[in-house]
Amino acid sequence: MSTNTLEIKDLHVSVEGKEILKGITLTIKSGEFHAIMGPNGTGKSTLASAIMGHPSYEVTSGSILLNGEEVLEMEVDERARAGLFLAMQYPSEISGVTTSDFLRSSINARREEGDEISLMKFIKEMDGALDELEIDKNMAQRYLNEGFSGGEKKRNEILQMKLLNPAIAVLDEIDSGLDIDALRIVSDAVNKIREESNIGCLIITHYQRLLNYIEPDYVHVIMQGRIVKSGGVELAERLEKDGYEWIKEELGIEDETVGQNA
Ligand code: ADP
Ligand code: MG
Repeated sequence: MSTNTLEIKDLHVSVEGKEILKGITLTIKSGEFHAIMGPNGTGKSTLASAIMGHPSYEVTSGSILLNGEEVLEMEVDERARAGLFLAMQYPSEISGVTTSDFLRSSINARREEGDEISLMKFIKEMDGALDELEIDKNMAQRYLNEGFSGGEKKRNEILQMKLLNPAIAVLDEIDSGLDIDALRIVSDAVNKIREESNIGCLIITHYQRLLNYIEPDYVHVIMQGRIVKSGGVELAERLEKDGYEWIKEELGIEDETVGQNA
């Protein structure tokens, strides 16, 4: 299995001229699970979007290297081909494109021309993944995310992750909108991918609960667009017990969001 390293160095990102990320430095290697925790509005999704190359998020300085290659110089599709994957907090609906067709195109977009996955093999893999995620088989024939419940959208993101087999995955709040049963199914699927591959993962969440199911190796807290604390699972446990207030007191700040002070 290949070893991959994603190095984020002093990353500054602006949205509509306002600086949201103010110097994020983080390295994720194959086999490592990093959790980024933080209250709402602290820049978590902005980090995910900048990694994947969303055009609204302007990187003003810093770098993101995947195995030494500058990701910031790659187009969005090149980033996916290079092995990066994002499970989005708010997956978009695409009318007219079935989930199945979307998945197959995504897989083929990452393969060389002439080496496309056969329809038979694709269906076999997709059916296996649908079973594992306890997703109704009919969903594959519905338009992507259209009319899906919050929980179905999240399962569909993990379905993609499973089939695309990325080197490094960013999971943005995959726990939001999931009831406890769905959370367990989604977490089990992620843990299975973790066992069977050497994927590296950045798990974004604002609740500690998810981390009871997917245990991170490292935990980072983000506030005001910066990583303000890093540690192991004990840090997540303290956040579960005491919330985020004590960190704000330690930092001497009142507002943890990127807020108006940017
Ligand atoms: P989190 O995911 O931690 O809740 P976000 O990264 O989504 O936080 O947002 C951080 C800040 O950036 C917020 O103040 C938010 O309003 C702003 N922001 C993020 N994305 C956009 C956008 N596309 N347009 C305008 N403002 C944005
Ligand atoms: Mg977010």
